[in-house]
Amino acid sequence: MTSGTLYVVATPIGNLADASPRALETLAAVDLVACEDTRTSRTLLARHGIAARTVALHAHNERAASAKLLAALRDGRSVALVSDAGTPAISDPGALLVAQAHGAGIRVVPVPGPNAALAALCASGFHAERFLFAGFLPASRGARKKALAELDVPWPVAFHEAPHRVLEAVEDLLAQYGAARELVIARELTKKFEELVRLPLGEARAWLLAAPHRHQGEFVLVLGPGSERREADLAEAERVLGVLLEALPPSEAARLAARITGAPRNALYAAALLRAKKR
Ligand code: SAM
Repeated sequence: MTSGTLYVVATPIGNLADASPRALETLAAVDLVACEDTRTSRTLLARHGIAARTVALHAHNERAASAKLLAALRDGRSVALVSDAGTPAISDPGALLVAQAHGAGIRVVPVPGPNAALAALCASGFHAERFLFAGFLPASRGARKKALAELDVPWPVAFHEAPHRVLEAVEDLLAQYGAARELVIARELTKKFEELVRLPLGEARAWLLAAPHRHQGEFVLVLGPGSERREADLAEAERVLGVLLEALPPSEAARLAARITGAPRNALYAAALLRAKKR
């Protein structure tokens, strides 16, 4: 018997009109729709007159539900995997089923569509030849601060934030990256009260507090790129410089450190003189 196909189907992140024709065709055609929450997905299905057979696959039953779905796929039935909103298996359940399908030689077909982080990123105006998707940051403040410190990369960083933590997150970002670093706050994307703003971190808290309910709803935050690698590169160049200074005079150490690291020679020479003075 030929195995069925597993379709990974993206659904709207708010505006039901964002369901693609192909997503709807797929949901109507498959034997089973595996939903994070069957009630949520039925709203979408009902709106489009799709009478699909739904089964639950969520964080708490993922293993058992995946095993049953895998058996159905092996029996030749087709399955569409959907989550409550957006693209399944992206900060959502589903990856286990998809991995098992691969393991069983079952064809996996993505049906791409809405994704909150990408929606925020494409409307951020930050150059995103590369970007980092950081999912949800840890809930506890200490762990979150630590995680935030690791986001200092020279490309934009998109992450989810819960409404009851968004103010804290913005404060922590300000403390970590300073008032001038830019942030995009994308709230309630594709929904009635959608707002998207790009501002310096120093203004983010006031923006969230400027209107009632503004710090409620669903959020994606996009931190603007760090000032390229310059700071990190300079720190590394200074480390190299320090080692060379143990054996060489400042001008020679600066010249070699510049050659090794590509950092500007005059900046390194100035740093070398400063170190010499401090000794
Ligand atoms: N798989 C989803 C996707 O592809 O976008 C993400 C699921 S994750 C569990 C849910 C989080 O995504 C929310 O807490 C929020 O941070 C973000 N999100 C979802 N819908 C959103 C929307 N309409 N506007 C802003 N953020 C949204």
